[in-house]
Amino acid sequence: MALINDFMSLIYPRRCEACGILLFLQEEYICNLCSIGLPRSNYHKNTDNELTKVFAGRIPFKHVMSYFIFEKSGRVQHLLHQIKYQNQKELAFFLGQQYAKELIQDKFKTDFDLIVPIPLHKNKLKSRGFNQSEWFAKGLSETLNILVDITSMIRHEETATQTKKKKYERWENVEGIFLITNKSKLKGKHVVLVDDVITTGATIEAAWQALKDIEGVKISVIALAFAARNF
Ligand SMILES: [Zn+2]
Repeated sequence: MALINDFMSLIYPRRCEACGILLFLQEEYICNLCSIGLPRSNYHKNTDNELTKVFAGRIPFKHVMSYFIFEKSGRVQHLLHQIKYQNQKELAFFLGQQYAKELIQDKFKTDFDLIVPIPLHKNKLKSRGFNQSEWFAKGLSETLNILVDITSMIRHEETATQTKKKKYERWENVEGIFLITNKSKLKGKHVVLVDDVITTGATIEAAWQALKDIEGVKISVIALAFAARNF
């Protein structure tokens, strides 16, 4: 098998999804240098952080955290681009596993009952083929051993693509775009909402608006990346 892998990597050299350098055989998706050096937020270690400031006073969260800090033209942007536009759902899954491993290693108490990825509208899902937040969530789920729920919350309205909007329009109108289809399943649960990138926090806030009337529901937020500055 190793021989076949060696052979395959000669024909199809694999590149680091973050920096583009050729990967060694034992490296998966990301080179060792990027594995160590990608800009982590470490927000799970420090609750007084930029992301909690985004949500303070807007949603009553337990934890909000992000694996990486997004920087324009940086390696995290490249990673996200690979997932979204090169159909690399497995990369999103891998990053979910990696983040979960780091949380476990840091002895972070992941007392979540259910993982709910922010859903895409069904038309968007059809055109893209997969929901990147869902695949990141599945990676987290597998390593943390917490169930993913992709049916209890749906997105019933489409929003214009953020990148097509001008900067001042980024406070998009997302109010009322999510619907809960199964309130009893979420009753009394600590739900962790999972998104790919958080910028203004408007999408998460809209998801909370849909969830907030469910008795005893608590929420936390995990993102793959947080764009701390309005780029
Ligand atoms: Zn790299």
